[in-house]
Amino acid sequence: MHTRADRHLRTVKLAKDCAELGARVRTIHSITGLPPREIQRLFFNDPQAIPRGRPPDSPEWYHSANLLFRTDASIFATTYRRLRQASFGPDDALVGAYRHYRTVCQKPYRISFDRAFDLASHTDGIWIAKFPSFSVVTCPSCVSEFLTALGTVPRSDACPFCKLVHRYGNDPRVQTSFPVHPLPHPTAFQQEMMMQQKDEPEVDGDCDARTPSFPGDTGSG
Ligand SMILES: [Zn+2]
Repeated sequence: MHTRADRHLRTVKLAKDCAELGARVRTIHSITGLPPREIQRLFFNDPQAIPRGRPPDSPEWYHSANLLFRTDASIFATTYRRLRQASFGPDDALVGAYRHYRTVCQKPYRISFDRAFDLASHTDGIWIAKFPSFSVVTCPSCVSEFLTALGTVPRSDACPFCKLVHRYGNDPRVQTSFPVHPLPHPTAFQQEMMMQQKDEPEVDGDCDARTPSFPGDTGSG
């Protein structure tokens, strides 16, 4: 049973998480319901530091955004969708998916927290959106999930990841955004596996020399 104090502390913690991820006052207010003045007082001591500008409007933006923005938006949205399907509330799913997005994509991040909030709103038809206008679909060609307009039949020519792979070889911007991480040399991996096998106790065979005996053991050794 959560008390009012528990609920309030949770709300303040959520607002703090959002502020740390760069949310503007309006976004934090939509998510938490805290009064804008209180949000400003708690998290924005420096009035100059308050994020400003026109709030994002994703349904229009997404369809005209360039490939890298659509890829980033899809990475965020698919994680958000999965967390929602795993029964996380929209606020936790938003914060979790945005944090995950920042761990897998390169700085400077193309998707701001406000944009992510707007995308999530329009995917679920919650917060600032009265109805959903996006959905996450699976590409029939590469099996990646991507964000698209609600009701769209999934096609590979609409998939940002198929386009990304196609363009990778001759687009330096795409290469910089998604650098290849070199795989370790196979011999290093083999050595590591051999070391691990050495450390593992043998399951059968003669292992008396290395197996300590414990009081109460009734083994045959
Ligand atoms: Zn694809």
